[in-house]
Amino acid sequence: MQFFSAWLCALGGFGFLVVAKGRAKISVLNNTGKIEGNKMATNSSQHDTFFDIHCHAFNMAHPALFSFLENVRKSGTGDILKEMISITDFLPSRSLSMTRRHVLNLLAVMENDVGGMFLLLEDDLAGAFRKDGGPPFLTDVLRIGEHDYERIILTPLIMDFNTPTVKADEIYYDRPPEKPLQKQINDTLDGIRHYVRERPRGKLEIYPFLGINPANYSLDEVRKLLNDYLGLHSISRHLFYKAFSALSQLDFAEKISGKGLFAGVKLYPPLGFDPWPEGQPEEMAKVHYLYDFCQKKSIPITTHCDDQGYRTIPLALSQEWTSPRHWRKVLHHYPQLKINFAHLGRQYLRKFGSRRDMEWFNEIIDLCCEYDHVYTDFSFTGSNPEFYDHLVATMNDMPTPQQDVLQKKILFGSDFMIHLLDVESYYDYIKIFHESQLSSELKHQFCSINPARFLFQK
Ligand SMILES: [Zn+2]
Repeated sequence: MQFFSAWLCALGGFGFLVVAKGRAKISVLNNTGKIEGNKMATNSSQHDTFFDIHCHAFNMAHPALFSFLENVRKSGTGDILKEMISITDFLPSRSLSMTRRHVLNLLAVMENDVGGMFLLLEDDLAGAFRKDGGPPFLTDVLRIGEHDYERIILTPLIMDFNTPTVKADEIYYDRPPEKPLQKQINDTLDGIRHYVRERPRGKLEIYPFLGINPANYSLDEVRKLLNDYLGLHSISRHLFYKAFSALSQLDFAEKISGKGLFAGVKLYPPLGFDPWPEGQPEEMAKVHYLYDFCQKKSIPITTHCDDQGYRTIPLALSQEWTSPRHWRKVLHHYPQLKINFAHLGRQYLRKFGSRRDMEWFNEIIDLCCEYDHVYTDFSFTGSNPEFYDHLVATMNDMPTPQQDVLQKKILFGSDFMIHLLDVESYYDYIKIFHESQLSSELKHQFCSINPARFLFQK
């Protein structure tokens, strides 16, 4: 998540820092998920589904910009300088080229409602916005590498922006805006219904992840949230599809329960979530409940894991809580937990003249090898074609057993719409992946086989 430059840019006055980030006929699916026309074929595999395991569908009302900017103001020059230094690392790709066009492009997406974003994304893959005559990736099928995908599964990650904020006394309207999680959940579910009704023959299936920061709630509230949205969680794709397609029957006035539709949990340490709050019994009780709940039901968790992004707590604390090393304590107690460390643990912050710190990345690789259900996604990172060259080289340098494990643990993610800070479109992000030097088999593994296992297997 690279909100930093964008918001400063979009909100203006912070330019100097920018230099420094028809009702549906319901198709029927079998448990393994192949659709032929409007009905499922049996005996098929999941391998003909493309998954984007890490994307977002926020609108302008969802992120807590107020808290974010207050934190920037209060964090003092130290943190800001560090971030400016790290941003020089990708000056050519981000800051210098961060123009009015980039910001307008991002706003053109974020000013949609959530349903509009899904429609836009599907249309983009079908070539609707290409002014260069680029061929569509999506026709009857989505063609990537040498594989055809008949379905596209998106798991938009809701984020819990419900962080308590201090009042900004020096301004007139000094009441911090509320960012209720429930509102974002409702908007997301409404958006999914909108898509299902608009596109009875659409290719997308959309299963959101519930963002939650237990620190924002009592234990009872945490329990209720998880049970309300994930209490019926099953790892059967057939049941997910039933819940998804049933939305077409719901009128816009009806409230959607979301039961059976949520596919996982999204955690985000830089918004004040400590994965292992030792020494705080009340907080520990909440995270124990969360991990126990997820482990028992094989519910996948995605946790933010790079050192940039949207942050409302001091940098040092954010880094400590985000670090995969800190998560070791969690995995030690919950070794069967299904968890995806996002962004491959990319560390942008570094001192002048020093090499990029690979500590988080290396730690994630170790965790992937030690624990059966640890995964990692390359969302946002895949905006840069060179990333794939590095990935291939890094994997080739690994001992074979490690290589074999990692091939089964890497997940395709886009970080749409945040990645619009680095690429022009979802189409371009897919194109970079499609054209990368990853073998066709590895592409298929990352965007289909691995995520299917992450979502739908014990
Ligand atoms: Zn993200």
